[in-house]
Amino acid sequence: MSISKNLSKIKSSLPPHVTLVAVSKTKPIANLMEAYNAGQRIFGENKIQEMTEKWEQMPKDIQWHMIGHVQSNKVKYMIPYVSLIHGVDSMKLLKEINRLATKWKRTVDCLLQIHIAEEDTKFGLDEKELHEILYSEELKTFQNIRIVGLMGMATFTVNQEQIKREFLHLKSIFDKLCQLNTENCQLTTLSMGMSGDYQLAIECGSTMIRIGSSIFGSR
Ligand SMILES: *Cc1c(COP(=O)(O)O)cnc(C)c1O
Repeated sequence: MSISKNLSKIKSSLPPHVTLVAVSKTKPIANLMEAYNAGQRIFGENKIQEMTEKWEQMPKDIQWHMIGHVQSNKVKYMIPYVSLIHGVDSMKLLKEINRLATKWKRTVDCLLQIHIAEEDTKFGLDEKELHEILYSEELKTFQNIRIVGLMGMATFTVNQEQIKREFLHLKSIFDKLCQLNTENCQLTTLSMGMSGDYQLAIECGSTMIRIGSSIFGSR
């Protein structure tokens, strides 16, 4: 099937409160343009350099989401244009994003990544570390970032019960923080679900799904 057909098939099945991020990592510009011409305006990449090259070449009304792990020393390359950073998992990184966003006179939206999977190879915060960040005094001084939600990745397994448990765990953390309402912290976005598990993620309360291979084909 074509990229535009894949996209419209997925989109037609989504409830209105769920945002689709088209994950275009490793794919050529021609593929992204096909999605763009079919109306897609949100793209996700997991490498800053690749995302920046694509941003330079693609139309400027696209929202670019960084979905991969971010190293502090590379933040500077995406700060001028990035629209949402999904994988924030330390105070140090938030501080660097805020510093550069200030320099660029921008406000940059971030999601905090929570570790919900069994594998310890996946990045992310546990609940205690999350609270340490959200309730720290230092966070209040970061005027050029906004924490708008949480992101998580389930274990890579065929066990649907396990995936469901992990998604519901993230959703319960998210729900407890929904009443949080400070200057730079309002958690409204829950980014969970990929090609293999997005229907389950939506059932479990996801508001943002990150789909790659079901749109662009396998990598
Ligand atoms: C690659 C990637 C996706 C998309 O994966 P698919 O299985 O191709 O849909 C989603 N989220 C993150 C963080 C990724 O790195």
